[in-house]
Amino acid sequence: MGSNLAKTYDPKDFEDRIYSEWEEKGAFKAKVDPDKKPFTIVMPPPNITGQLHMGHALDQTLQDVLTRWKRMQGYSALWLPGSDHASIATEVKVVQKLREDEGLEKEDIGREAFLERAWAWKKEYGGRITRQCRKLGDSCDWSRERFTMDEGCNKAVNEFFVRLYKKGLIYRGKRLVNWCPNCGTSLSDAEVEHEDKDGFYWYFRYPGADGSDGIVVATSRPETMFGDVAIAVNPSDERYKDMVGKTVVLPIVGREIPVIADPYPDPEKGTGAVKITPAHDPNDFEVGERHGLEKLICIGTDAKMTELAGKYEGMDRYECREAWVKDLDEAGYLEKIEKMVIPTGTCYRCHTVIESMLSDQWFVKMDELAKPAIEAAKTGALRHVPERFEKIYLHWLENIRDWCISRQLWWGHRIPAYYCEDCGELIVSATAPDKCPKCGSARIRQDEDVLDTWFSSALWPFSTLGWPEQTEDLKYFYPTDVLVTGYDIIFFWVVRMVFSGLETMGEVPFHDVYVHGLVRDAEGRKMSKSLGNGIDPLVVIEQYGADALRFMLTTGITPGNDMRFKTDTLEAARNFANKLWNASRFAIMNLQDENGDFRPMFEAENGDSPEAITKIALRDEDKWMLSRLNDAAAYVTQAMEKYDLALAGQRVNELIWDEFCDWYIEIVKGRLYGDDEEDKKVVRTVLTYSLRTMLKLLHPFMPFITEEIWGFLPEKAPTEDNPESFLIRETWPVYSEALTFPAEAKRLATAMDAIRSIRNIRAEAEAAPSRKLRAIVLAAGDDRADVEAAERYIKALANITEIRFVDSKAEVPEEVMSAVTSAAEIFVPLDDLLDYNAEYDRLVKEEKRLSGEVERVEKKLANQGFVSKAPANVIEAEREKMATYKDMLAKVSARLELVAKKVGK
Ligand SMILES: [Zn+2]
Ligand SMILES: [Zn+2]
Repeated sequence: MGSNLAKTYDPKDFEDRIYSEWEEKGAFKAKVDPDKKPFTIVMPPPNITGQLHMGHALDQTLQDVLTRWKRMQGYSALWLPGSDHASIATEVKVVQKLREDEGLEKEDIGREAFLERAWAWKKEYGGRITRQCRKLGDSCDWSRERFTMDEGCNKAVNEFFVRLYKKGLIYRGKRLVNWCPNCGTSLSDAEVEHEDKDGFYWYFRYPGADGSDGIVVATSRPETMFGDVAIAVNPSDERYKDMVGKTVVLPIVGREIPVIADPYPDPEKGTGAVKITPAHDPNDFEVGERHGLEKLICIGTDAKMTELAGKYEGMDRYECREAWVKDLDEAGYLEKIEKMVIPTGTCYRCHTVIESMLSDQWFVKMDELAKPAIEAAKTGALRHVPERFEKIYLHWLENIRDWCISRQLWWGHRIPAYYCEDCGELIVSATAPDKCPKCGSARIRQDEDVLDTWFSSALWPFSTLGWPEQTEDLKYFYPTDVLVTGYDIIFFWVVRMVFSGLETMGEVPFHDVYVHGLVRDAEGRKMSKSLGNGIDPLVVIEQYGADALRFMLTTGITPGNDMRFKTDTLEAARNFANKLWNASRFAIMNLQDENGDFRPMFEAENGDSPEAITKIALRDEDKWMLSRLNDAAAYVTQAMEKYDLALAGQRVNELIWDEFCDWYIEIVKGRLYGDDEEDKKVVRTVLTYSLRTMLKLLHPFMPFITEEIWGFLPEKAPTEDNPESFLIRETWPVYSEALTFPAEAKRLATAMDAIRSIRNIRAEAEAAPSRKLRAIVLAAGDDRADVEAAERYIKALANITEIRFVDSKAEVPEEVMSAVTSAAEIFVPLDDLLDYNAEYDRLVKEEKRLSGEVERVEKKLANQGFVSKAPANVIEAEREKMATYKDMLAKVSARLELVAKKVGK
């Protein structure tokens, strides 16, 4: 017994081992190499709070497939990994832990102690997800692993902030921000989730200050009335023409507010009149700005009413709403209530209804930054795959509002802005100033807020390569090639990376954005914690192996579309791996002698180039196999270039399963067992060449099994690029004109067509594969020559003893089954297909059984006890049964009579 693969394919036997070998020997390392072209992907950094889920598994597998492929194509391929500090998500976790473990709030321990705990948390859990990535087979360069809050990234963040500030692109302003009262922080627009909630429109009368009826206004948020500063009506609204310029009285409160004309109110909506509360609604804010209105705050950051609400001060906003509506109703101001669906913004972290809150915040001015990012897509410098996502990208950028970047949190990049406690001077600086440049005071306080977590991830494609330093890495690997991401974070992240990259580097951060969909469950539902339908990739890997999961994910997806997670496709992927395993094991067994040494091959003499292999005495099937490999190399490469990994993977599957295992190996088995030593040498050479090519083509998709099998093939000489002779660092197969054999390929195709047809006939007739058959072939000209040339394969693979060629249908006997192929008509005599002896025996048995049944039912129906007691429908059912049995019996007897003649009985 030589050195061969284990008897059964069990990914647990080798996946972890192979990964460690790759990692230890530096197989993932990328280096600046002027002789090579760079290929770069930055990994979207998973949150340190995260656990690997199916979405990551898909995202990362796609990136790994691309990286492995490019590496094999000879690029200096860098896949740069890292993780995100996930400001708000992590802070929530640490706050929770602090509460649970110590019963303390973050304010109790202060900023410094809190941050210590956050770093400790990061140390304990932050590495979890990157360890899990290794299970998937991620071939990223771990020596370059980064963290969005490491020293370098922090430096980049401060530099970028100062740069934008100096250009006037960052400003501090009082603006309405989305505010989560529960998390106690502002949220960017992208962090607000929109849902429709059942609510009401309350119609309240605001009486005229002059004692007139005044105006009725509908509102879904009566508790904000304390902050009302005006009633607005559309200037085109005839109903209110006379009211504009007058004042009305805020019910109960008694404060007088003006009626103003503004294009914002929609005359069709509600009463056409709108109350204006600039401090609590973004649209009202705009109206207020246009009219120079005051901004009155009646709800605080804790979602409790302020003193402006009078006796409701300190009440929760919803509690106040209830009491306030009741009081207004009792006082006669409530005109009517209408049930309404109210579009509501909620916090993406905790789903609390957000408030629009007026506060001092830092903003990035977007219009100027958005322009080149829009340009980049329009000129094609930035491509979306699939293209339709460009629309979403452009729409987002064309409608972008200024980006509120300050967050009232502690975990994150602290804003590099400082205030002089003495003269109030604002100092924006990448490094902490020791004294005020204006008054010289040393009493300087840093801004308390941290930056939106996306501010640092926006810099990821260049901060990770060394920016703001002009490092060799940055020069060589930037711009990166492709960003692989789900469509759900295009606005969060992609857009921001693009304008940040253009602003700092003057070049797009990546040329292609490859957008993929979500992995849904088998019913098509989104996987979620609340539904409990999430599937843990680690559990799948444990059961099926990483290779099967990867293959299932990559071949199940088309760019931009969601996919469903189905166990049967996962099983199919594992069966595929198993098929490859067994075929490889068979091949290796035949490549070796009894001692496990490799038997002679031509490769040793000629080398293993495509040209070298054509110099040996190849037969048709060898040439056919080589041409299939060649075809697959071209096809797979082309599909990969279009990011159509599913098509690429499916082609490799077909190559290995159908073309190699089911055809080539079956055809050459006879030669391997024969005694023509030279010919055996040919087969061994082609087998080795085929296996190597297939393993290379499959490697990006199924890296583990392919590397494992590779290790059992005749060893290849180490090179400088591949000192360990790993498959991972081998060269990608390329299409070669030398390996196209059109005539031979056509002959083989003819043979296969015929074999398939005969197999179909056999299956239809239910004749066992072991049953020897004769075939009659009607064909003429070249077609006939092709079938004649293929006779040997047809006989061997379709188990045919004799092929008779005929020139016309007249020569074909009557009792045959037939099939039409592209080259011929094929007939198989019925007498060959049917085993009359076996059928005779079967029919005799069947006749006996049916007679028995008929007799049994007859007896039952003759039984007076049964007939008198049983319900009518039961008796009817028995009668039907008897009719069926009698009918079947008649048919069986008739057939038996025929078959008895055939076998002479
Ligand atoms: Zn929240
Ligand atoms: Zn000062």
